Amino acid sequence: MMKKYRFLSTLAFINLATVIFAQSQNHQHERAIRFPDVPGYLTMVCDFHQHTVFSDGSVWPSIRVQEALRDSLDAISITDHIEHQPKKADIPHPDRNRSYEIAKDHAKAFPLIVINGAEITRAMPPGHCNAIFIEDANALNIHDVDMVFAEAQHQQAFVFWNHPDWVSQRRDGIAHMEPMHKRLIEANQLQGIEIVNEFTYSDEAFQIALDYNLTLMGTSDIHGLIDWDYDVPSGGHRPVTLVFTKERTAGSVKEALFDRRTVVWYKNNLIGREKELLPLIHACLSIEKADYWGTDAIAHLQIQNNSDVDFILANRSPYSLQTESDVLIIPQNSTYKLSIKTLSQLDTLTLTFEVLNATIAPGKHPRILLSADF
Ligand code: ZN
Repeated sequence: MMKKYRFLSTLAFINLATVIFAQSQNHQHERAIRFPDVPGYLTMVCDFHQHTVFSDGSVWPSIRVQEALRDSLDAISITDHIEHQPKKADIPHPDRNRSYEIAKDHAKAFPLIVINGAEITRAMPPGHCNAIFIEDANALNIHDVDMVFAEAQHQQAFVFWNHPDWVSQRRDGIAHMEPMHKRLIEANQLQGIEIVNEFTYSDEAFQIALDYNLTLMGTSDIHGLIDWDYDVPSGGHRPVTLVFTKERTAGSVKEALFDRRTVVWYKNNLIGREKELLPLIHACLSIEKADYWGTDAIAHLQIQNNSDVDFILANRSPYSLQTESDVLIIPQNSTYKLSIKTLSQLDTLTLTFEVLNATIAPGKHPRILLSADF
């Protein structure tokens, strides 16, 4: 990305106006986080954990909307802390729904869904939890912790456990369950868990999600600016939750979250259950062209990567590759040429790859099959 940008800069003396236009177009296009839809579902790009000046964030809610639009997100939630209010002397706001209302109003001219949320901010256990799709944040502003979760349930909120590995509450950085979490899950008052928060990923949280059937969440937990924290100008991106929905509506996002249909996109990793992750990878990667030249027994393929992921693949096929070692990288949004020694000219070729930067359980990577007809 930077290479291209610099290349354009060197042309500036030729036609400054054209180049400035091209740069801005290029820039806009590349920061958008894009994933293809999967069979039966839309793939919605979402960030459900964000702060504003209405708790301990540094920006007005409209900035969260502007950042989301720049990233081409489909849905966001504003989740200011209920209890932690360090700015209340400067910004008094008796109504805890205001950050959501301001963001929603700002977004109404754009195709961005804004969801009302709040961060229930307690010592461990239970630690911090986000309640989203709430009706009224003020009703969650109560002392008794059991009552808060009961109220969130009463509002039919979707609730997830934030950064269960947070070092301030877990000195060893290891997420683990306590009886209160089990009680909340059994009472259907806790449905999800962050396996990714800001700059941390937790294998242990992922295992908890699998053991207790929780929705996998990845969020920015942004307090400052997305561009600065995630170095967007250099090609970085915030962590997002990809949600597989039936329609492009808030109700459909909620239904999908309760049904555990998510994958987390973090750095260059896709993390999810095999059921959601395999269809997504297959939607991202496809063989566009396959042929043999003359009577050679070398299959020449063009693999299309229709996503923002640089896929890291390990060859697990019975054939060796002619143009690669056993590990190759298919760059994001590109067509990649690959040649395989198939020993004879085949009618159909099926390649098996282990996707090293996709994770379906702690330490476990999925295998995909890519087929081509000649
Ligand atoms: Zn937070």
